[in-house]
Amino acid sequence: VRDEEHAARFQPALMRDGTRVEVVANIGKVNEAGQAVEAGAEGVGLMRTEFLFLGRETPPDEEEQFQSYKAMVEALAGLPIIIRTLDIGGDKAVPYLDLPHEDNPFLGERGIRLCLNRPELFLSQLRAVYRASAAGPVRIMFPMIATLEDLAAAKRLAEKARIEVGAAPVPIGIMVEVPSVALMAPEFAREVDFFSVGTNDLTQYVMAIDRLHPSLAAKADSLHPAILRLIRQVVDAAEAAGKWVGVCGGLAGEPLGAVILAGLGVRELSMVVPSIAAIKAKMRTIRMDDARALAKKALACRDVKDVRALPLP
Ligand code: PEP
Ligand code: MG
Repeated sequence: VRDEEHAARFQPALMRDGTRVEVVANIGKVNEAGQAVEAGAEGVGLMRTEFLFLGRETPPDEEEQFQSYKAMVEALAGLPIIIRTLDIGGDKAVPYLDLPHEDNPFLGERGIRLCLNRPELFLSQLRAVYRASAAGPVRIMFPMIATLEDLAAAKRLAEKARIEVGAAPVPIGIMVEVPSVALMAPEFAREVDFFSVGTNDLTQYVMAIDRLHPSLAAKADSLHPAILRLIRQVVDAAEAAGKWVGVCGGLAGEPLGAVILAGLGVRELSMVVPSIAAIKAKMRTIRMDDARALAKKALACRDVKDVRALPLP
């Protein structure tokens, strides 16, 4: 039994009809790359790079970043990794960035907005990522994109960094976490290689509930039909453009969420390492037709409690 369990851990998650859903990891530290592989992840769907920048007096230089990214790429031994560029903002204390106080940091100079205003900081990260891409399959992802202009500016800087270090192109994708991107998905789909839905922030911004709010945060439930309908729009737009959609928010690591997302056409589920085995096991018990039927019911629900009450096949 233990040998079988061990073998299953490293097999892809195939649904009963053979449909494959990639199950990958969210990580935020160098040593978690090896842990993700050990847990059966098929790669890393979200590497949060904030850990390199927080809790220190000066920013990490390009070389330090390169060494960290390279160590993770090597630990993955050929499995793909999506490296998300820096996503910090006014809600985190980063003394060396000298960020002005903001009344609404979640609506402020956060993520790509900060990076576009600090091109030297952004370029040093991008150069480090492109250098690390020589060691294995790296993809780049931008957080907090809200407009096509943001994306064009970020891509221009990425291309500049790539040429500076003489690296080959890598796939470039964006987080779908600001509602404008889901609503403009057909236009964005032409400009990216993939989408990854950040259901934590997407829910915060769609429901207008601070994700850290002490009493309201529990109501920011990503299974709300409003969120699922947006994800469906993103999948439809991506498919029409021949691109793929993943989900790297907390919803991907919940059994009901994972099955509904697969039924919506999401091809990659990225989650915390401890959820990987259970989600792979769950996907193996269902058929894609049943996941589609469940997703259809969820889309038709009037409220999140009705979605939560749906029986999981
Ligand atoms: C998200 O917003 O869903 C997400 C995955 O990114 P983060 O939690 O880092 O904001
Ligand atoms: Mg986010």
